[in-house]
Amino acid sequence: MFSSTEKHIALISCHGDPAAEIGKEEAGGQNVYVRHVGEELAKQGWKVDMFTRHADANLPTIVQHRENCRTIRLTAGPQEFVPRDELAEHVPAFVQSLLKFQRQSGVQYRVVHTNYWISAWIGMELKKLQPLSQVHTYHSLGAVKYQSVSTIPMIATTRLDVEKTVLKTAERIVATSPQEQEHMRSLMSTQGNIDIIPCGTNVDHFGSVSREAARQKLGIASDEQVVLYVGRFDPRKGIETLVRAIGQSQLRNSDKLRLMIGGGSRPGQSDGLERERIESIVGDLGLAGLTQFPGRLSPEELPIYYAAADVCVVPSHYEPFGLVAIEAMACGIPVIASDVGGLQFTVVPEKTGLLAPPKDEAAFAAAIDRILMNPDWSHQLGQAAQERVRSKFSWAGVATQLSDLYLELLAQQSKPVDQVSA
Ligand code: UDP
Repeated sequence: MFSSTEKHIALISCHGDPAAEIGKEEAGGQNVYVRHVGEELAKQGWKVDMFTRHADANLPTIVQHRENCRTIRLTAGPQEFVPRDELAEHVPAFVQSLLKFQRQSGVQYRVVHTNYWISAWIGMELKKLQPLSQVHTYHSLGAVKYQSVSTIPMIATTRLDVEKTVLKTAERIVATSPQEQEHMRSLMSTQGNIDIIPCGTNVDHFGSVSREAARQKLGIASDEQVVLYVGRFDPRKGIETLVRAIGQSQLRNSDKLRLMIGGGSRPGQSDGLERERIESIVGDLGLAGLTQFPGRLSPEELPIYYAAADVCVVPSHYEPFGLVAIEAMACGIPVIASDVGGLQFTVVPEKTGLLAPPKDEAAFAAAIDRILMNPDWSHQLGQAAQERVRSKFSWAGVATQLSDLYLELLAQQSKPVDQVSA
């Protein structure tokens, strides 16, 4: 039906570089999502160009990940790190760079999948200049995020406006969970075409290491009880809640309890400051002896840390999807997560883990104790968690659903105008 040349897609991720090292600076779930979706689409016959902002002059302009899948870093603003809330002024330059790239390579993308609101804006501007269908994934909704933060940034009005407009004008919106769709409907607009396609994970990579091998590698005895956090150091991630919960745990005085807080940080930057703040709470609560900060975990280390743990805790104040939860589940360990957003979709309480109200240290402490004190039940939760991820959240399955969506949009473009539904 379509020649391979027509199956050409641009994924735009202005601030989340798909070729970046994950787990430090602002690189998290969005980078992972775009990179894996891109690679899987290429396996399924698409030519995939992933566009991001060139944020480090030492990095190459083009990174070829595999055949037909590459990251292209476009010049827009200084070639240095710029926080995402300050990227709006570089939107016109990004659009111009993308147009130039198209001219030079002789390609004009007919389907553009944008990620996060800055890229939504880029997609909307590009659409004014050439015919294309826009697919958008939010990764985070300003309308929800601003409910849970104490200081609303200057950029909020622009962001909320762009997010509402793209909901109404994009050919298709991808919500990654029913909860995200519900937020769009209740807080933003009843207009717009929304499909629910979740985020995914590499089910072979995660789950490839046994508990015994992982513990041996990390020097953890078989009778130790390990509580794990993985993610960025950001106050929104709620690491403080986890630390305080450990402080309230009935097991805190047992010499078998161990808390591991994995994630990268840069001294003096926002994530470095959050790590210092967390370390000082750990110190104040007298938990330094049982707490470890292994730093940024590489893709090779992640399955080992998850497999060595008894439980993974995701205490976010707000989480649109939460990749860490499904990575841990794919490794066969139960997850205790905040009862918010996408975590309500991925974690099935009492079946694959437990949910607790965000910021509720006592509830997290009780959940941690329940899991650690009932190893047989905890093992059952872990098995069910692994099954759930294998059946619902593989990257290949996610990419197939996206591919079907893009093909539908391409087919609509080639129909005469009067046959295209509004
Ligand atoms: N991550 C990593 N190394 C680390 C910390 C995090 O590779 O040291 C990865 C983690 O495995 C996950 C992503 O960063 O794939 C975080 O995604 P999530 O959706 O959980 O949170 P976000 O960062 O998008 O808020």
